[in-house]
Amino acid sequence: MRRAAAGAQPERRPGKLCTLRRMTRKIFVTTALPYANGPFHIGHIMEYIQADIWVRFQRMQGHALHFVCADDAHGAPIMLKAESEGITPQQLIARIAAGRQRYLQGFHISFDHWHSTDSPENTQLSQDVYARLKSAGLIYRKSVEQFFDPLKGMFLPDRYIKGECPNCHSADQYGDACEVCSTVYAPTDLINPYSTLSGAKPVLRTSEHFFFRLSDPKCVAFLKEWLDAPGRLQAQVANKAREWLSGSGEQGLSDWDISREEPYFGIPIPDAPGKYFYVWLDAPIGYLAALKSYFESGKARANGEQRTFAEFLAAPDTEQLHFIGKDIIYFHTLFWPAMLKFAGPPYRVPDHVYAHGFITVSGEKMSKSRGTGISPLRYLELGMNAEWLRYYIGAKLNASVEDIDFNPDDFVARVNSDLVGKYVNIASRAANFITRNFGGELRYSGDTEQLAALAAAHAYQIQQAYENREFGKALRDIMALADRINHDFDARQPWVLAKDPAKSADLQDVCSRALHGFKLLTVLLTPVLPEVAARVAQQLFGLTREFRWSDAAVLPERINPYRHLLTRVDPKQLDALFESDAAPAPARTAAAAPANVTSAGVLSAGDAPGQPEISIDEFRKIDLRVARIVQAEAVAGADKLLKLTLDLGNGTRTVFAGIKSAYDPGTLQGRLTVVVANLAPRKMKFGVSQGMILAASGQTPGLFLLAPDSGATPGMRIS
Ligand SMILES: [Zn+2]
Repeated sequence: MRRAAAGAQPERRPGKLCTLRRMTRKIFVTTALPYANGPFHIGHIMEYIQADIWVRFQRMQGHALHFVCADDAHGAPIMLKAESEGITPQQLIARIAAGRQRYLQGFHISFDHWHSTDSPENTQLSQDVYARLKSAGLIYRKSVEQFFDPLKGMFLPDRYIKGECPNCHSADQYGDACEVCSTVYAPTDLINPYSTLSGAKPVLRTSEHFFFRLSDPKCVAFLKEWLDAPGRLQAQVANKAREWLSGSGEQGLSDWDISREEPYFGIPIPDAPGKYFYVWLDAPIGYLAALKSYFESGKARANGEQRTFAEFLAAPDTEQLHFIGKDIIYFHTLFWPAMLKFAGPPYRVPDHVYAHGFITVSGEKMSKSRGTGISPLRYLELGMNAEWLRYYIGAKLNASVEDIDFNPDDFVARVNSDLVGKYVNIASRAANFITRNFGGELRYSGDTEQLAALAAAHAYQIQQAYENREFGKALRDIMALADRINHDFDARQPWVLAKDPAKSADLQDVCSRALHGFKLLTVLLTPVLPEVAARVAQQLFGLTREFRWSDAAVLPERINPYRHLLTRVDPKQLDALFESDAAPAPARTAAAAPANVTSAGVLSAGDAPGQPEISIDEFRKIDLRVARIVQAEAVAGADKLLKLTLDLGNGTRTVFAGIKSAYDPGTLQGRLTVVVANLAPRKMKFGVSQGMILAASGQTPGLFLLAPDSGATPGMRIS
């Protein structure tokens, strides 16, 4: 939706450093489609930064990149959310879509096009893929007995049914698995099931569903071969997919239910009135719908691609590449390639699916609603530099599917010491001597060819790290190079040379070499720091375009006066970032900030003043209950959390609470407290938290659990 930042169109001819491949590659790149029921969170931004660094790197090589994405707009949750707000699903997704640009521009994510799965292109392509799979004999119908909400008049997805676990008898467990004992079951196994939409007791009703025959021998044979292609997937991902493919137990792959009954917000199945494609069928096809829309809008042509969508897709030298999170590997390595394979040309199977891990914050999984997370919008609103985050995330990323951790202290240290202390510092020091003493002219003593060859060798090494998505390694090597450039500069003591007119040529040489080094570093950092690099190219080195990779080995001949490039992070900005998330009350001061405490499963009563007024009906939605702390224990690896087992009268629950700083676990056992009982369970790094206990905190240190007066018993409702 937004091309690479201002400047000339990148040249499509590979530069002389482009030695990995001589041909211009034609690459179609996507990131996972974000669900259109809410704004982006930090996990989305991390994925976009990862893909954007790779895409910008490829563009610098002169390759033809087509980088697209779309909102994933269909499904029951969006339909129900729109209904609860009294608007249409189309209005809901339009509102979410309208907010996307702000984030993407803010973090310099250079998508060429952004689309939606609720679009004519996606309807046409999804129905086409379905028709082709049907012709290939891979679609069949089967009667399915399912829970139906008689009040709501709709079939209930598993996540909208709750009841008592048939195994451990914990209350309020979802229809697919128990979060207390981890037993997996069918919703029909629940004891006293109820619809979370209406509270009604669901009834069993039969309907006819459509299935994709993933278990067909030809699908299985194809997937085996596809998974085995060297370099296609990360080894860890391919192994996981092979496990699913061969089946861990007695059965192999299951066929896939691809239909849903009305009412549903989705794409109608052409030959089946009242039935819709399940959102997971049309969502990945949305990648292709976004590409089609990009071609038909004329943007692909403007980006140098003259062929039609179908011609481009069918061409043997086109590469199709998806960046995804590790939670959706199953869909992208089994269903998606099989669907594409048996739909046939012009559809093509993905050349690569690259999975990444999750982002945690100080070792704990973030949660937007509870506030351990980093709000990307808040980050931008605080005026924090997007390139700090791009650099920090880039430095943490590698080609594996490991989770990465955002640590505020580490963030400050890396940005300030690497970007400002090592990188920017070179230019600010050397440029002043050149401007003042030599009118901006650079001159090198000694062998400049050797200097250029050395730069080319560095660029080649970094090139391979970027290509392989080893961004952490690339940035480590770049910073090691910055260390060497700083060291060489300091060793020759230019500030001493500057005092002696006889040493003028020496001074010019040492500063020229430093600025050549700075230019090299900037070229190598361009995929990560596109805005800083564009300013260096244009302001300092007087180019009329952005850097290309081949610029790395070209020695600069003159510079313009140095202008400020990048400020340091002020740790107070991070306090504000986290405080805002955890404590929305505007009156809080930084000193109060038990931000990490309130965020970790405890609602601090100190947050309440200053909140907008609510009605009694709104208050009544909160199910507050008396609970007895049956057990309290420290959590290995968590600094702030205690794991509490709570008795609510009708069963026990696990709640993680950030109260370790204030309470010794041994003193809590047997105590009564207050729990928010109807809070959606939250997956944390250490397990699922099934509620939140209440505590008070204020301007002075300390954290105080709430407790009912004597006589109260577990399970009593608080109102
Ligand atoms: Zn259970």
